Amino acid sequence: PRSIAGARVIVTGAASGIGRATALLFAQEGAAIAALDLDAAGLRSLAGEAGQILTIQADVSDAASVRDATARAATTLGGIDVLVNNAGISAMIPIDAEDYDAQWDRHVAVLLTAQQRLIRNALPDLRRSEYPRIVNIASTEALGATAGLSAYSAAKAGVVGLTRSLAVELGKEGITVNCICPGPILTGMTAAIPDEQKVAYSARRTALRRYGCPEEIAHMVLSIALPAASFLTGAVIPVDGGLMAR
Ligand code: NAD
Repeated sequence: PRSIAGARVIVTGAASGIGRATALLFAQEGAAIAALDLDAAGLRSLAGEAGQILTIQADVSDAASVRDATARAATTLGGIDVLVNNAGISAMIPIDAEDYDAQWDRHVAVLLTAQQRLIRNALPDLRRSEYPRIVNIASTEALGATAGLSAYSAAKAGVVGLTRSLAVELGKEGITVNCICPGPILTGMTAAIPDEQKVAYSARRTALRRYGCPEEIAHMVLSIALPAASFLTGAVIPVDGGLMAR
């Protein structure tokens, strides 16, 4: 196949931001989508916009929830060709914070452990796929750094390691594993940052002098997921308006 039409795709964190834009773009291109998220209201709104999307409320940090959701997605869609590991959280946690340990555990659970669990649960179905694809969402914070984001940065750097190692391990089976490192994107995650702070940050840090929009990440996810992207694996791809270049 030359297009993504007919592909069976799981997108986590699909109720908002990058995940939502990805689910909508893939659905528009004719893929069959299982949209996983914790946020039931957000999933209802997604289903309202694209009725053909299967929505599944799930907590990616919970092993049983991941197992049930993946099984339901595979059964309903009739298999899995593409897994998009996107769900995420972020918080500023200075190293001296009282609750640093708890916040660290939460970041690692949602951002990193969840990705390996989704992958392990989807693997039997991915192995039966004609063009299996795993796309993990990391961050430019895995490559560069911001004060106060050490737990987030460490978990995202873990995603880069997970991606590269599994690309090597699964390569002989034709399964590609890649990750995208988004720069600053206008989503739920960055909604609380005041506009003037966003303008100043992107002027100082990015080449394009602006935040990106979720659709600009969704298009890269789609490019990586296409059957034609069959020689791309183990790649760590910044989609960041030139942040890493500056
Ligand atoms: P967002 O807050 O708009 O969306 C994240 C989604 O993940 C939400 O719908 C949320 O409910 C869901 N989610 C959170 N915890 C979950 C859990 N335990 N189980 C299931 N779903 C859960 O944020 P976004 O910016 O679209 O984030 C998507 C991904 O992109 C994240 O991995 C994030 O770290 C990454 N990222 C975002 C930016 C940015 O600037 N927005 C930059 C780099 C990387």
